[in-house]
Amino acid sequence: MQRLQAYQYEILPNGEQQRRMRRFAGSCRFVFNKALALQKERYERGEKKLSYAGLCQLLTQWRNGTETPWLADAPTHPLQQALKDLERAYQNFFARRAHFPRFKRKGRRERFRYPDAQQFKVDPINNRLFLPKLGWLRYRNSRAMLGVAKNITLSESCGRWYASIQTERAVEAPVPSSTRAVGIDLGIARLATLSDGSHVAPLDSFRKHEARLRRYQRAMSRKVKFSHNWQKAKRRVQAIHARIGHARRDYLHKATTTISQNHAMVCIEDLQVRNMSKSSKGSAEAPGRNVRAKSGLNKAILDQGWFEFRRQLEYKLNWAGGRLVVVPPHYTSLTCPDCDYVSARNRTSQAKFKCVQCGYENHADVVGALNVLARGYRVTACGEEGAGSGQKTRTKPSSVKQEPTEATMREADHA
Ligand SMILES: [Zn+2]
Repeated sequence: MQRLQAYQYEILPNGEQQRRMRRFAGSCRFVFNKALALQKERYERGEKKLSYAGLCQLLTQWRNGTETPWLADAPTHPLQQALKDLERAYQNFFARRAHFPRFKRKGRRERFRYPDAQQFKVDPINNRLFLPKLGWLRYRNSRAMLGVAKNITLSESCGRWYASIQTERAVEAPVPSSTRAVGIDLGIARLATLSDGSHVAPLDSFRKHEARLRRYQRAMSRKVKFSHNWQKAKRRVQAIHARIGHARRDYLHKATTTISQNHAMVCIEDLQVRNMSKSSKGSAEAPGRNVRAKSGLNKAILDQGWFEFRRQLEYKLNWAGGRLVVVPPHYTSLTCPDCDYVSARNRTSQAKFKCVQCGYENHADVVGALNVLARGYRVTACGEEGAGSGQKTRTKPSSVKQEPTEATMREADHA
């Protein structure tokens, strides 16, 4: 089994290397934008879109021409990769996966990629990388890299540069070290509650930094736009954003690693996070209700990163030989795990669950997790419907359907 994995390291360039990296990133952006403008012109004239190979030929002309001779200073492969990115952006657009390609702006996600392993060297013993036209770069060797490096992307974020090294290695088909199954209830007060009763505490890093962030944002708005002081204030705001992002990612990684290493099957609700965190403002004619409360909830969801939590859990389980089972979310918080009685009255408060039928009592989030686990077993046992995203026909999932259908099983695997 081939495993692809990326490792990211902060690099420690000297002044000259920093200036070059910025220039190379700028050249790549220029090539991307120029090619996009050209394709648009051709489209308006009713001509066919140029292929990647055709664009590469033009790139050679641009590099050797008199108009943009500075393009020749940048390494060829990253420039070609910029054209490849454009090609992919078009493909995504045609496949309706993305918007029409947009022009890249300076200072936003500055990055460029070296695709050819023949041209770079990774020397972890001496904590350094060799890249064409940049020479040896030192980097913070924060973790051991496994596998063969296939390509390297350099990117800038808040004044720091990072190298993301994509690697490939053969691994034996993983066998889960545990046979346990667990259900997970995602929430606000607790990021995740497991059906065994344990939970992952909420991540409040955003709130912790919120006051400071707001103060810096205010300071920024008082400055003259694009002035020296404005730039300084902007950098400060960006630094806080980056810090929040780093803390959140680190926390999520730790949580998902532990869960995926200790369980062979993890069941999770199919929450439409994208929809839930959408704006609650509504339209001008019909302004949304409870905007304040909703925006608080939205913020909390974004803060927690449920989506990222699920994404990490899925690939880590795959790596560990386990599986993620996604189940329909209806009534998981209102169903009694003991007698299956469904009622809103079962939930006496945000945290408390007490069944009005049989008197079963537990923490409401644990009840949710238990129901998710039970549903997960049903989904895997008889291929019950509703595990995929966007299937909402059934209001209360039941186990009546007994025929194991391959298609839904597979969907459950991929959901
Ligand atoms: Zn009950």
